[in-house]
Amino acid sequence: MKTSIKCEVCGEVYEYPFNLDKHRHIEQEIGGVPINYWNAKYILEKQSKLDVGLDKGIYKYKNYLPDYDENFTLEEGNTALIPINCDINGTVYLKDESSNPTGSFKDRGMPLLMSEIKAYKKNTVAIPSTGNAAISLTKYAKQANINSIVFVPETITEEKKELLKDATSIMYDEDLVESFEHCFSYCRDNENVFNGFLSTNISYLMGIKTIAYEIYEQLNNSAPDWIIIPCASGGSFVAQYIGFSDLYRMGLIKKIPRFVSVQIAGGDPITVGYESKMTKEIVLLDNPVDSETVLSSDTCFNYFKILDILELTNGIAVSITDEEIKKLKNKKQYPQLEISSMGGYVAMQKIKDMINEDDKVVIVGTAGEKKKI
Ligand SMILES: [Zn+2]
Repeated sequence: MKTSIKCEVCGEVYEYPFNLDKHRHIEQEIGGVPINYWNAKYILEKQSKLDVGLDKGIYKYKNYLPDYDENFTLEEGNTALIPINCDINGTVYLKDESSNPTGSFKDRGMPLLMSEIKAYKKNTVAIPSTGNAAISLTKYAKQANINSIVFVPETITEEKKELLKDATSIMYDEDLVESFEHCFSYCRDNENVFNGFLSTNISYLMGIKTIAYEIYEQLNNSAPDWIIIPCASGGSFVAQYIGFSDLYRMGLIKKIPRFVSVQIAGGDPITVGYESKMTKEIVLLDNPVDSETVLSSDTCFNYFKILDILELTNGIAVSITDEEIKKLKNKKQYPQLEISSMGGYVAMQKIKDMINEDDKVVIVGTAGEKKKI
């Protein structure tokens, strides 16, 4: 599918491959990191059914993905949609992304990211990450013969450090914000390094949107009424909105689900912005909490897009606490998921009065407890 990318600040449109680092709006950056102002542009015709092929991994949807010469699938995707028994009106499902090749949804975006790096004729890619993305990138880059560098906070788990240490080059930073800034300045100083910053990379997000396509197919060609998504940098949230918007534009669904973002109280710029209706200015929290369970953040590089999506879908921003999430973990109901992926369950309890009896609710379980490269 012919895909271009548009800068929403100045209106400029680019064809693949393009180097986004060269196109900057410094007033729209925090610490050298751009607040996502990129949008994918492509034409979708009305159709009576989704055209799904027999290709492996995300490429079964290749008619709706950007065109590249090479493909680097490791058979990501095709994850289960599991009905969940709980005391909620309506029918609740878990989209279990833990069965992806490295155990998280990030894998879905990697084949297209690798293809983009090859198209751009670079041999090294760098990203900032708290672990799951670093693990995913490392595996896919290795397969594609691309060197990888990951910028991670010192606070990531020992298990993740152990997995990464022999597999990739690691740069440790004090916290994730520093990793973000460090990665951007490193890529700007090193011409041969491709900046793979996932939150704003359109190729990557186009891979992630396949979660929405799969949910649609698994619900017998329909959309759920609600989708609940843990939200850190917000790439997955934005990508799944793109996926459901595609289905809507093609006339395959009549409405887009209500989107629910989940963040940790005290490190929740989206909830703060949503509740105070700060749509013109980005929220930057002074002292984000140290959370033991969920990623805490002072800001969000998809801030404006996410607030838009919440408004457009009549969505809700929900914050949860460490105590609430740990209480749920103790119930051992969902052993395959890592603790940060369970925020969706807690969030659902908080909005349960708004869920109707015939509603379908999908909680996205973003990553598994077990990591692998
Ligand atoms: Zn621009």
